[in-house]
Amino acid sequence: MPEIKKLLIANRGEIALRIHRACHEMGIKTVAVHSTADTEAMHVRLADEAICIGPPPAGESYLNIPAIISAAEISGADAIHPGYGFLSENAKFAEIVEAHGLIFVGPKPEHIRVMGDKVEAKRTAGALGLPLVPGSDGAISDVAEARRLAADIGYPVIIKAASGGGGRGMKVCTSEDQLETLMKQAGTEAKAAFGDATVYMEKYLGNPRHIEIQVFGDGNGNAIHLGERDCSLQRRHQKVLEEAPSPVLSTEERDRIGGICAKAMADMAYRGAGTIEFLWEDGEFYFIEMNTRLQVEHPVTEAITGLDLVREQIRIAEGHPLTLRQADVHFRGHAIECRINAEDPRTFAPSPGQVKQYHAPGGMNVRVDSGLYAGYRIPPYYDSMIAKLIVYGTTRQGALRRLRRALEEFVVEGVKTTIPLHQALLDDPQFQAGDYTIKWLEEWLARNDEQA
Ligand code: ADP
Repeated sequence: MPEIKKLLIANRGEIALRIHRACHEMGIKTVAVHSTADTEAMHVRLADEAICIGPPPAGESYLNIPAIISAAEISGADAIHPGYGFLSENAKFAEIVEAHGLIFVGPKPEHIRVMGDKVEAKRTAGALGLPLVPGSDGAISDVAEARRLAADIGYPVIIKAASGGGGRGMKVCTSEDQLETLMKQAGTEAKAAFGDATVYMEKYLGNPRHIEIQVFGDGNGNAIHLGERDCSLQRRHQKVLEEAPSPVLSTEERDRIGGICAKAMADMAYRGAGTIEFLWEDGEFYFIEMNTRLQVEHPVTEAITGLDLVREQIRIAEGHPLTLRQADVHFRGHAIECRINAEDPRTFAPSPGQVKQYHAPGGMNVRVDSGLYAGYRIPPYYDSMIAKLIVYGTTRQGALRRLRRALEEFVVEGVKTTIPLHQALLDDPQFQAGDYTIKWLEEWLARNDEQA
C-alpha cells in the first residue's frame, strides 16, 4: 500500500490549514503552494515547505496546473489534496496528477467528470436509484419541446446550466410566455460563465429545504453514509449556516435516504468523500447534484460522528479500507456551523483589509477553522469566507446556546464581518425552532432591511 509521506495542498485559506492539520496528526509532511498575495497566510507559515506558484489572480496561481505539478515534483510530494473549490472538481487535473505518478486525494477522475456535468449527473443518479426532481431527460434546446415539458411538469420551472456551479446560471420561469426568453438568457449566461451553453429544465420546488448526505467509498465497492447536513439557510444560493442533524428528519428517514445513497456509491465503486445534495419538500427527497470533494461544512458531520473526514480521505487515497462499517457509524448530539465572511453584514459588500485585533472563541465543544491572526491582511482576490465557527451540543437547543456564547467572544477588528448577522439570526424564534427553508433567509433579510 502506498504510504503518503509528503502531501501538497493545492488550496488556500482555512481549508489549506485544515488539511495541514490532518496531515501533521498523521505524520505526513506538507507542502503549501501559494500566490504572491498569500505569502503571509497561516497555512503557508505552518507548512513544512512553501512554494510560490504565481501572482494573485487564481487563474495564474491556484488554478495553474503546470505550476502546481512542478511544485509537487520539486518538493518530492507524493500526493495532492485539492481541498474544495479551485481544482477540486477538475477531472483533467485529477488525471494529470495521477499521470505524474502522484496520489490524488479525491475520487476517480471519471466520477468527477460524470458528476461535474449536471445533466450526466442526473442521469447517473437516476440510474443508481436516487430520487430526482421531475424535469427534462437531459439537455434541452428546442423551445417547442421545452414548452410541452414545462406544461407537463407544471409551472414554475427552473432552467439550469449543465456546467453551473456556485448557485449561478439559474432562471426561474413562472409562465409559458417567458420560457423562450429565459431559455435564451440562461444559455447565453451559461456560455459566458462556464463556456458551455447547455441547459436543462426542472420543476421549481416552491419552498424546499436543502439537505445533503455525506458519503464515503473505498473505490472497491464498499461505501457508507455519515448522515445529513441541513444547509437551507442560504443567501443567493450560497450557504450561510449549516447544521446536523436536520431539524426535520427522523431516524427512519435518515436511514432510508442514507441507505439509498450509500448503495448508489457502492454500486459505482466511488472512491473518497462525496456529498449528494437534495432538495427536500413534504417528506420527499429530490437529487440536485453531487459534489465529488470535501465540503466547506464537513465539520458539522465530524462533530456528530467523531470521524476526521480529511484523515479518512487520505487513508482511502492510500488504499486503506473504510475505517468504519455502516453499523459502526453513530450520530451523537447536534452541531451548527456559521460561515463568517469579511463582508458588511447588511449590504454583503466585501471588506478585505488588515485584521487589527483577533480573538477566537474557545471552550468546550467550540471549534474555529480559520487562518486569521492579528496583523493578517485579508487579500481582496479570493472568496470572502475568513472563518468557520462550529459548535456542538448534546441537543439543538444546547448547541444554539453555545453558539450565542461563542459569537459573543469572537473578536475580529479592522474589517467588517458577518458575525452580527449570525447573532441576529440566533435571536429569531423561527430559526430557533428550526422552522426554515431555502427561501427563509432572504425573506428575513428583506424584512430586516425594511425595519432598519
Ligand atoms: P449549484 O451547483 O450552482 O450550487 P444546485 O443545483 O446545487 O446548483 O442548486 C443550488 C441551489 O439552487 C439549491 O440549493 C436551491 O436553493 C436552488 N435550486 C436548484 N434547483 C432547484 C429547483 N429545482 N427548485 C427550487 N430551487 C432550486
